[in-house]
Amino acid sequence: MSSSKKRDYYEILGVSKDVSENDIKLAYRRLARKLHPDLNKTDPKAKEKFIELQEAYEVLSDSNKRSNYDRYGFSGVDVDMSSFFRGGIPGLDDLLSSLFGGGMFGNSFGSIFGSRGRPRSAPRREVGQDIEDRIEITFEEAMFGTKKDVIIKRYTPCDDCEGTGAEDPSSVKTCPQCNGSGRTRKMTQSGFGTIIRESECYTCNGTGKIIKKKCPLCNGMKVVLETKTIHVNIPPGVENGVHLKVQGAGHIPSSGAIPGDLYLGIIIEENENFIRRGNDLYTPIDIDIVTATLGGEIKVLTLDHKTEKLVERELKIPAGTQHGTEFRIKNRGATYLRGRGKGDQYIIINIEIPKKISEEQKKLLEKFKELSKK
Ligand SMILES: [Zn+2]
Ligand SMILES: [Zn+2]
Repeated sequence: MSSSKKRDYYEILGVSKDVSENDIKLAYRRLARKLHPDLNKTDPKAKEKFIELQEAYEVLSDSNKRSNYDRYGFSGVDVDMSSFFRGGIPGLDDLLSSLFGGGMFGNSFGSIFGSRGRPRSAPRREVGQDIEDRIEITFEEAMFGTKKDVIIKRYTPCDDCEGTGAEDPSSVKTCPQCNGSGRTRKMTQSGFGTIIRESECYTCNGTGKIIKKKCPLCNGMKVVLETKTIHVNIPPGVENGVHLKVQGAGHIPSSGAIPGDLYLGIIIEENENFIRRGNDLYTPIDIDIVTATLGGEIKVLTLDHKTEKLVERELKIPAGTQHGTEFRIKNRGATYLRGRGKGDQYIIINIEIPKKISEEQKKLLEKFKELSKK
């Protein structure tokens, strides 16, 4: 656009020079809904008019640019709309939502698959829903890590109709209700003036298209349920109840959509020999009163991180070991998921008091008691 042909920005927005920032927004929004090429299909100059409106808004909504424009006219501002519209004019909902945030126009983006924020004026890509599942693993698998195959069911675009939902391309027609825009508008009068309520078109569910003959495989749903095997790497040291995220293993709502993710809850089977606290493991061990008193060697179950197995090893019990004593075995705990190293294992001594003893044992203990008095 050469500057000689340019219309005054205030004139484009239909406002006077002294209006507030908010009035500029309101004026822009009103006009955007009228001039957007998606809604203004009959006007061959729709795109040109809309770009003109967008440029006026870009300048007048920015207080710096606006004051420069007020003082120096077009030469005071430098707006290059070609970069803004590179890749085409964004859909009206996308545009308004990126400029004003969601919520102002009702549920603009809602779809059963949800949607995530995207950069301003970037082309809209649908995002698939996440899948939540859980998997049970053994204590050893949690300690040493494991690979698992998880079978999930997810929606994926129908191969037969390439995600169109139609038996063949000729059975896809523009929705007569909304004229292909996917939106319908209703005007009501209220104390505040005319309220325009826009909502998703009921006839086409907001797609702008209707299908005369549905694809027999997906019955017009555009997606089918597929059963898929996902290979999951479970890292050593994983904790009970955490969720592993497998990116891209969720639902794919349409061709070209960003797949959702799989969140896999980890359930670890209990192992009576190990109680986990953080990355340390606690192993209760019963020893008899003689071993506790005289000392000796016992066998304990411990992690061998090298062979990735549970192994038995000897533990020296010193003479005079008390009930509740903890012996630490370094680096035989769980692997830290973040950072390096491993926790420790603590052997907790439980001294067993015999409940049944023979006559002979009883005599010896009484003798022992006698000797202890001296
Ligand atoms: Zn429609
Ligand atoms: Zn199909």
